[in-house]
Amino acid sequence: MEQPEDDQFHEGLSRRGFLTAAAATAGVAALAACSPSPNLQSGASASGAASVTTTGAVDVRRITPPKLDNARLGKHVLCYRPLRKGSPNLSVETVGTTVVAHDYGHGGSGWTLGPGSAKYVVDLAQASPQGAAVAKDAPITVVGAGVIGLFTAYELVQRGYTNITVMAESFDDLTSHNAGGLLAPVSMDNNPEMQKTIDQIGIDAYKFYASIANGTQPDFKKGAVVVPAYFEDREHSGLEPYVGQVMQPAKDVVLDFGNGTTRPMVSYDDGIFMDTAVMMKELTDYLKPRVQFVQKKATDFTALGSPMVFDCTGLGAGALNDDAEMVSVQGHLVMLKDQVPADLQSMILVYFDEGTTKSGQKIKRSFYIFPKHLLDSGPNDVGVVGGTFIEGGTPETPNLDEFDTMMTAARNFYGI
Ligand SMILES: Cc1cc2nc3c(=O)[nH]c(=O)nc-3n(C[C@H](O)[C@H](O)[C@H](O)COP(=O)(O)OP(=O)(O)OC[C@H]3O[C@@H](n4cnc5c(N)ncnc54)[C@H](O)[C@@H]3O)c2cc1C
Repeated sequence: MEQPEDDQFHEGLSRRGFLTAAAATAGVAALAACSPSPNLQSGASASGAASVTTTGAVDVRRITPPKLDNARLGKHVLCYRPLRKGSPNLSVETVGTTVVAHDYGHGGSGWTLGPGSAKYVVDLAQASPQGAAVAKDAPITVVGAGVIGLFTAYELVQRGYTNITVMAESFDDLTSHNAGGLLAPVSMDNNPEMQKTIDQIGIDAYKFYASIANGTQPDFKKGAVVVPAYFEDREHSGLEPYVGQVMQPAKDVVLDFGNGTTRPMVSYDDGIFMDTAVMMKELTDYLKPRVQFVQKKATDFTALGSPMVFDCTGLGAGALNDDAEMVSVQGHLVMLKDQVPADLQSMILVYFDEGTTKSGQKIKRSFYIFPKHLLDSGPNDVGVVGGTFIEGGTPETPNLDEFDTMMTAARNFYGI
């Protein structure tokens, strides 16, 4: 017999972190195994959180949980990751006389890869014989105004193209604005032979965001910061290929929420948070005086009158290219209100097991929290809680129960 949704979920909380939460909720003595040892000393933390460190090897970090009562929950967001099975389409083809450069299908990692992916595909286009022949003042069209389209337009401006149009069906409230903002190559489906390329693209993107965070990027001063990123283990971060290239090795830490709940985690102290709504505005403001923005739906790349077209259409690429590998992966997010922003200067991502939604769709549940801030919200409205991964989820299957399930998981995680 099929179990009720909640039971399935709680059975799914099988990872080490959630076992601790269950123990904490029940007041079970097993929690003591993860509790701070008695010989703790106060110490400054690289994490920015108040930290308590042992004299031994364990790095215990005190983190004040966010306020998760219903009154502090703001906007509930449903959005859709453009996942391409087998890897994003990063390729160039010539259709008639038009060079069409594809850059779509980044799943849950469009922000993580965005600037690196734009660089990679513009390189490919310029290296193709037809692309190399396109003059710098020829009309170039970028179709799509999400993170991929805007970074592509930015890359083209940097390379001296002077006649660029960004054409999009929609410019507002895109998946790119709504995304959480963790730099980590997760929720993708890459063929092993593409993995090295994807890793290099992510490393290039990391360098770009790090330059914003450390103030050396010439055009952008906001939109990316360095904060610790906590995961249940190194494998689930996807960041190990970045270690030694652009990131420091992860550390084993214990998060102590000051309420009896502690969790063993790994920390990448040089994690990057991309404040997605802020970065979209930064990119748009930079591009506005330099490129044309046209609101229009494209149906045929060769009919646009440009010798070179960049296809950055996210989920739209499925229909435009008749690409059967494109899948919509639904995500649920809840924005937080009235928080203490200083308590939210880190990121956490923990996966649970897979299950089925009430509408019968396959779901992978996770808990994550990032310090996201919406442009039209107050200074203390900081934080986004996620998240779900529902393959094939569309606006017709909103799976609204998942918002409550997700917030219950978030409270359990902190032992609230
Ligand atoms: C809940 C959630 C959380 C996420 N969190 C993260 C995260 O923490 N880190 C991370 O790296 N990534 C994250 N992502 C993934 C990331 O948001 C996406 O990979 C990324 O936004 C995709 O960008 P895009 O530009 O390809 O697509 P979109 O933002 O969807 O933009 C597509 C553009 O193409 C246009 N378009 C489509 N079809 C046509 C057409 N026929 N003609 C003209 N225009 C067209 C659209 O109007 C739009 O302008 C998250 C996604 C979700 C849903």
